[in-house]
Amino acid sequence: LVKKTTPIPIALYGGRHAVTMLPGGGIGPELMGYVKQVFKYAGAPVDFELVDIDPKSDETNDLEYAITSIKRNGVCLKGNIETRSESTGVQSRNVAIRNELDLYVNVLHCHSYPGVPARQSNIDIIIIRQNTEGEYAMLEHESVDGVVESMKVVTQSNSERVARFAFEYARRNNRKKVTTIHKANIMKLSDGLFLETSRKIAKEYPDIEHNDMIIDNCCMQLVSNPHQFDVMIMTNLYGTIVSNVVCGLVGGAGLLSGKNYGDHYAMFEPGTRNTGTAIAGKNIANPIAMLSASIDMLDHLGHKQHSELISDALRKTICEEKIHTPDLGGTATSTEVVQRVIDHILQADIRAW
Ligand code: ADP
Ligand code: MG
Repeated sequence: LVKKTTPIPIALYGGRHAVTMLPGGGIGPELMGYVKQVFKYAGAPVDFELVDIDPKSDETNDLEYAITSIKRNGVCLKGNIETRSESTGVQSRNVAIRNELDLYVNVLHCHSYPGVPARQSNIDIIIIRQNTEGEYAMLEHESVDGVVESMKVVTQSNSERVARFAFEYARRNNRKKVTTIHKANIMKLSDGLFLETSRKIAKEYPDIEHNDMIIDNCCMQLVSNPHQFDVMIMTNLYGTIVSNVVCGLVGGAGLLSGKNYGDHYAMFEPGTRNTGTAIAGKNIANPIAMLSASIDMLDHLGHKQHSELISDALRKTICEEKIHTPDLGGTATSTEVVQRVIDHILQADIRAW
């Protein structure tokens, strides 16, 4: 039996949804600008509550404000917040937000875009990643001079929630197989628990095949024979690595979106979670990943017609007309892609609504 949870609260005022927008750093703000433009032309009934987090500040006020806003609205659209790796005092705000909201699962639907040049075609893989613990526990310390310990935390309760989410997802979406990715031959206790838990949950879903694979072999198999994978589950760090491998296979960081869920809140963002600082302000960032995250968000809010209107416009622009930014080998600017998407929205026949 699936445990009953409180429904995700969603802010709805006069027929319009309020959604927290965290642009983050790098290309985040320009991508959010494109989302707002596209939503305006698509008539999407969403009002964004903008929260800027200053990555240079050591104050936690911005972060607290962001978390309060998401708790109020229930839903967030997010760019990546820069974390200075040289500063040991400041924790990653991205991790802090996910932990504070208990967004325990990340779902990345890695799929090929017909018409986009890529190393592999017809990819259709769901990566389900534990999103709040594992190697991201942020419990590191220097026990004595020159000896650093970093704790990887795996709990049965979180392993169970992720596994159950994966099998339920597989069932609902007519998927046939779930593969647990691990390194239980070396990390016998932590990955061992994650693997054992997924095996236990798998028994409740006899209609879905379950197998497992060691993370290193998984990376090799993904590059050489990715079509064997259907739904994959894994701990936090393996999740980010495998997600980046698969995004690389289908066309890079600018295409796919990721979804973060807990029992109460949902957060949508580009799949590989980059800041793209080096390409910011140059009008070359691919707007598709963030637009795709905004489509996921509209689906989550139940605005099916608006989400289809925008995803149809994206498909025509990217797959049919092949208007591509430089990361996909094209010559179009970000704003040219967005303008084309808007043109398609304006041309769409929405009289049937
Ligand atoms: P991180 O945020 O992890 O530091 P980067 O910001 O350096 O990573 O991004 C990794 C790579 O992905 C860079 O080459 C960056 O230019 C590219 N990238 C990320 N997002 C996009 C995007 N939307 N469009 C095009 N390239 C992107
Ligand atoms: Mg960066």
